[in-house]
Amino acid sequence: MKDLRSETQDSLKEALIDLGEKAFRAKQIYEWIVKGVTSFEEMKNLPLSLREQLGKLYYLDNVKISEQFKSEDGTIKMLNVLKDDEVIESVYMTYKHGQTACISSQVGCKMKCSFCASTLNGMSRNLLAGEMMGQIYEMQNITNTRINHVVIMGSGEPLDNYVETLKFIKMACDESGLNLSARNITLSTCGLVPEIKRLADEQLQITLAISLHHPMQSEREKLMPIAKKYNLDDLMSAVDYYTEKTHRRVTFEYALIEGFNDKDEHAHALAKRIKGKLAHVNLIPINSVKEKEYYAPKSHQIKRFKQILEDKYKISTTIRRELGSDINAACGQLRNQHISDVIS
Ligand code: SAH
Repeated sequence: MKDLRSETQDSLKEALIDLGEKAFRAKQIYEWIVKGVTSFEEMKNLPLSLREQLGKLYYLDNVKISEQFKSEDGTIKMLNVLKDDEVIESVYMTYKHGQTACISSQVGCKMKCSFCASTLNGMSRNLLAGEMMGQIYEMQNITNTRINHVVIMGSGEPLDNYVETLKFIKMACDESGLNLSARNITLSTCGLVPEIKRLADEQLQITLAISLHHPMQSEREKLMPIAKKYNLDDLMSAVDYYTEKTHRRVTFEYALIEGFNDKDEHAHALAKRIKGKLAHVNLIPINSVKEKEYYAPKSHQIKRFKQILEDKYKISTTIRRELGSDINAACGQLRNQHISDVIS
């Protein structure tokens, strides 16, 4: 059985022609997919025989929300059960400018960043593009709203699942589909240099976010094993290449950890690293993960860090508003755990 939500309108057309069906059926089926239906019975304008045939070849319910955790700030964390019973999380956030979906790209993660919960159980598999779309469809169904921003910042390293992530981005931007603006999609990576260059060559208008977290090579390696494979100089060159190709401003994510990367000297070193780049810094006070001993700096130090970047170096800087931390839905708190673990 194949995942119907991973089909594009064109691939559906080919499949239907192979089945001896009329090509226009592809458009009808695609419209149902985009509406987020979860069964073939709902595709009312298709003949029963075709619905039955599709039901034998494809499945539609690729992610099922088994549990929802609602935060006081309106954020909802959702547990999605996949066809093979794997569990991933997605997060729904409301802002002034609309609804944002934070979606996962893999079941778990293998990047082993020391401060992140998503990596605790390793990575079991890549998600299909349709499973990334499915997280959005289900979110829209449950909340009865339209998603207009997507951040690929749930569990997983999207550039470690390059092909399906790219397919997802193209599907999400498809005019006859969700019709999201590429500019409203942010892809966050821990820094896979060859894939950043490959992504640059695609010349998409998405926002690239780089998980930087430390301006010094030797210290960054302690937090992020990937830094040993791709060093900071190479990462920065890849970022330059990305900007050259896309003319897009790159975001540097910097999780502030008390006593590790939050001092004035770090702010100065960070500024020097990114000076002259078309860049924005997003400071994230580190979120606690129960297995890890990391703490966020005091708020005055966070503000001071921001001020150094802004006042002295004129670098545009924001402090990420933490949503959903009361339900463990904030950055780095997502994990592939089953419902029983969540409740206990
Ligand atoms: N693998 C991708 C995307 C997932 S994480 C990446 O590494 O970028 C999304 C962001 O949350 C990344 O910047 C990540 O480093 C950050 N993050 C992970 N754990 C965190 C924690 N405990 N507190 C704050 N941010 C965290």
